[in-house]
Amino acid sequence: MGKIAVYLETDLNNYTLSNVSYELLSKAHQLKISAKEIDCNNNDYEVVGIALGKNIEKDSVKKAFQAGADYFVHIKDDSLDIFSQTVFSLSFIEYFSSNPCEIILFPATPEGRIIAPRITTMLDVGLVADCTGLELIKKNDKIMLAATRPTFGSELMATILSKKNPQCATVRPKTFIADFTLGSENFSDRFFEYKLNYPINETRLKLLRSFFEKETQGVDFDNSKIILTAGYGLYTGKNPEYFIKLEKLAKKINAKFGATRKVVDLGLVPKDNQIGQTGSTVSPDLYIAFGVSGALQHTIGMKNSKKVIAINSDENAEIFKYADYKIIADAKKIIDELMNYF
Ligand SMILES: Cc1cc2nc3c(=O)[nH]c(=O)nc-3n(C[C@H](O)[C@H](O)[C@H](O)COP(=O)(O)OP(=O)(O)OC[C@H]3O[C@@H](n4cnc5c(N)ncnc54)[C@H](O)[C@@H]3O)c2cc1C
Repeated sequence: MGKIAVYLETDLNNYTLSNVSYELLSKAHQLKISAKEIDCNNNDYEVVGIALGKNIEKDSVKKAFQAGADYFVHIKDDSLDIFSQTVFSLSFIEYFSSNPCEIILFPATPEGRIIAPRITTMLDVGLVADCTGLELIKKNDKIMLAATRPTFGSELMATILSKKNPQCATVRPKTFIADFTLGSENFSDRFFEYKLNYPINETRLKLLRSFFEKETQGVDFDNSKIILTAGYGLYTGKNPEYFIKLEKLAKKINAKFGATRKVVDLGLVPKDNQIGQTGSTVSPDLYIAFGVSGALQHTIGMKNSKKVIAINSDENAEIFKYADYKIIADAKKIIDELMNYF
């Protein structure tokens, strides 16, 4: 029986799991199913969610099972109440050394990006960072994780196989979709607490006051149902008139305002609004692209949108490959019409 482990990120303020944890569990569940299809004889996998912390909220555990976990391991210790890369990585390694697995998925969040390289270095294995696609393939009679990510200045997608187990990858939030219909509610015998044998006393970190929520700056794309995105096709060459209009339109209809990197680099829209590989990854119910060409680095960040409308004057624009509705037109005129309408 093989194991796909998911490093579950915990909010240490309220002991809940972050959304990306559920997204990775659902993806791991899909991989488990695909292993059976590739090789029905040998390869049964289990999905194990691993969370570190002093506590973990019950409802989050339940949701983890619904999202596809077969087992949930809570590595529990008072030393895990403050995030320390040393304490967390060594605690994970202590658990892993007696409970090895074939694959580990980490979130590509600030915490995941700190912890994953430390853990993989200690295990002397590779790490494929910021993956946009994961699948299992059969090679030389072995099931392997094929991890896809942009490469060569993001002009190409590379699929990378790791030589040694555990095969490890990080994945950005919103790359996959959390599906809470995958598991059962009856999980009491599949939840385990692991007590550390060698808790680490972190002497270099002290909590002087208390944790407080970071004031949200920038754009909260996470809870947006509709995103209107501005591309270079809206630029008149003189002023940012249509970018301002589109932002106003977004406010009027309670949508979020997104942008491509090209218009951000030109200083037409703030960086916080950028969507794509080096911006935010989004998955709204409706994504409307105004004058966006559909470069790979942009579509990586929006391809999980549920419905896409693309407006472009070039009928061969790449963005149309991702669109449910294509409008070949001057996007500026459409913005004017919509401004009159709303
Ligand atoms: C390492 C790296 C990371 C990157 N990260 C990102 C990222 O995170 N996000 C991102 O967006 N890009 C990113 N890029 C840049 C990306 O490669 C593209 O350059 C960028 O997305 C193009 O932006 P655009 O579609 O607005 O502009 P263009 O490619 O110039 O496209 C403009 C489009 O507008 C259309 N058009 C012109 N006039 C009109 C009109 N009147 N009405 C309708 N359509 C019109 C044109 O036909 C064209 O398709 C990255 C690049 C690299 C190398």
